[in-house]
Parts: sequence; structure tokens; C-alpha cells
Amino acid sequence: MKENRIYNFNAGPAALPLPVLEEIKDSFLNFNGSGMSITEVSHRSKWFDDVINDAIARTKRLLKLNDKFQVLFFQGGASTQFCMIPMNFLKQGQSADYVNTGTWSTKAIKEAQIQGKSVNVVASSEDKNFSYIPKDIPFNSDAVYTHITSNNTIKGTQWANFPDTKGVPLIADMSSDIMCRAFDPNPFGLIYAGAQKNIGPAGVCMVIIREDMLEMVPDSLPSMLKYTTFSAKNSMYNTPPCFAIYTIQLVMKWLEETIGGLDKMEEINRKKAGDLYSFMDSGEFYRATAEPDSRSLMNVTFRLPSEELEQAFVQKALENGFGGLKGHRSVGGCRASIYNATTPDAIESLVDFMKTFEKENG
Ligand SMILES: *Cc1c(COP(=O)(O)O)cnc(C)c1O
Repeated sequence: MKENRIYNFNAGPAALPLPVLEEIKDSFLNFNGSGMSITEVSHRSKWFDDVINDAIARTKRLLKLNDKFQVLFFQGGASTQFCMIPMNFLKQGQSADYVNTGTWSTKAIKEAQIQGKSVNVVASSEDKNFSYIPKDIPFNSDAVYTHITSNNTIKGTQWANFPDTKGVPLIADMSSDIMCRAFDPNPFGLIYAGAQKNIGPAGVCMVIIREDMLEMVPDSLPSMLKYTTFSAKNSMYNTPPCFAIYTIQLVMKWLEETIGGLDKMEEINRKKAGDLYSFMDSGEFYRATAEPDSRSLMNVTFRLPSEELEQAFVQKALENGFGGLKGHRSVGGCRASIYNATTPDAIESLVDFMKTFEKENG
């Protein structure tokens, strides 16, 4: 492969589109005629203003966000959002609904509870090791918000359709599937995504917030933990993670101009995931762990007949240029993370490798 790059199935940080990496490389020493690298220009310069504003404009176009939504950039990862959300929106005497679909939802719930906030876990798939997305959930109509994890990176499940919360604002952790498909953003009060899975490098978390949510933020919070601070200053109250935001800008440009938008991206992702799942379904050797109607388009979790074979599989794959196929340390097994940047060609090569491995070891 070009530049000796491997097929990268890492869960995060993860593969980025090659044209994006090439553009970064080409412009790295002299960004846009500035005579400086993007890592050297001031965040108060016109150069950076253009970068962040273009990243925002492209995000809004791709997700079809109306003027009620703002696109913001935070540090501290998706994990800081776990604590900021209850801190900013939940007052004494109020409560929020949470759906527990795995490791990251569990952490989000915990961060609300340690602040003494009132949390209702209205559904959980823990009874079957988080292998499915709950249905027919008894949402509370007086909840301030309903929190879901749209894609469960570790367990390999994804909401196929978002739940109807009858006007209660949805808040979604979309860290591992933002921009993988088109959806209606209007029921969402807030969407957040650590960039390092599907839209950029580590170091920045994208937050999409609806105006009515900003009105709920109390003045009493520390500046850096308030959504209103970032909203008032176009995410530049303090120094933002400039390089990470620049990379997001290029990924959004790639999505718009090379891929052709989210409908097209979704079509490609459905084909990629479909090819991999249907290959596994066609035999007995590889077993996808998520229930069929809850399978993720982004993180394909699977088992082989034994742990020894799983270890051998991961090792042999690495020797053949396929990286990152080991499952998360908390669940074991195997996982192929096939984010937007993973090409159909990488899936085809992986399936070929899996067939060969099965022949030799099955
Ligand atoms: C990776 C991940 C996180 C944690 O993100 P950080 O940026 O490391 O804090 C949270 N939620 C989901 C769904 C993830 O995949």
C-alpha cells in the first residue's frame, strides 16, 4: 500500500481519509501562504478564523442544521461532556432520563450521579451484555433531557432509529458515529462527539447545541465548564485546539466535496458493514456479537470459536497488514472499526483475509 500504510481498523484514534492527511502534509510548513504552519499561527488571526468558520459552516450544511443550532469545540474529550451536561442543564428538583447501552452510557450516568443529580435509567441492555438497543422505552415526559449513546463503540451496537421522546430534548453521545449517516437533527438539544473516532484527531470534542438549551445554563458555573462561554466566543474564549479543528475542517470538506454528503456516506457505510456482516453470517466460524437489528455500521464486534483462535487471528492479521482488530480489553473477542475513512477496498481485503484464515484454521 502507498507509503507502507496498513489497513487501519483501530477504534480511536482511528483512520483518517488519506486525501486529508495528504493535504495536511502538503500545507504543513506554509499554511495558506502565511509562511507558518497551522500549528504556529495565532488563533486570533484571520487564517484561523477562516478555518474554524469553514469547519462550522460545512458541519451545518452536512447535518442540515438550521439557525437554532450552534457548532462548538471543546477540549477534555467526550468524557468532560459526561459531567458538563448534568452540570449545565439539571437543577435541583429536576431529573433526566438516561438509556444505558454500554460502557460509555454507564460512565455518562455515573458522572451525573456523583454530582448528586437526579437520573432515571429508563432502559438498559446490561442483562444481555449490552448486545442490543432497548425498545419500547418508558420515557418520562417531565425529564429535562433524555441521554442516549447513538453508537456503542465497545459493544458494537447502534440505534437504527432515534427514539421519540415527545418533545423532551434528546442529548446524544455520537462520538463514534457522527457523520456516518443522515438524520433529522431537530429533536436533539445537544449532540457531542470526541473527534478521534470518525471526524478528526484526538484533542477536540465537537458539540452541537440548540439555542433553547443555552437558556438553561446557570451563571454560577466556572467559565470553562459553561456552554454559554463557548457559545459567546465562537469556541475561542481560550486557546482552542487549532490543529484538531483544522483537521476537522478538512474532513468535512472531504465529506462534502469528495464523498458528496451524508446520504452518499451512509450508502457507502451500509455497503461496507453489510458485506462484512453477511460474510460472517454465511458461516459458523465468525460470529457477530450484536443482535442483528442493533448492529453497528461503525464497530463490528465478533468472536471466533476460541480465545486461542482469536489471538492467532489478531496476530496473523497484523502480519498481513490489518491493524486494530483486537476487541476492547473489557470485552475481549475481535472488533473491526470501519469508520467513514475505511475504504470499501479495505473491507474487501479484510474479508479475503478472514476467508483464508478460516480455511487454514477452521
Ligand atoms: C471514545 C468514546 C468516548 C470517550 O471519548 P474521550 O474523548 O476519550 O473522552 C465517549 N463516548 C463514546 C461513544 C466513545 O466512543
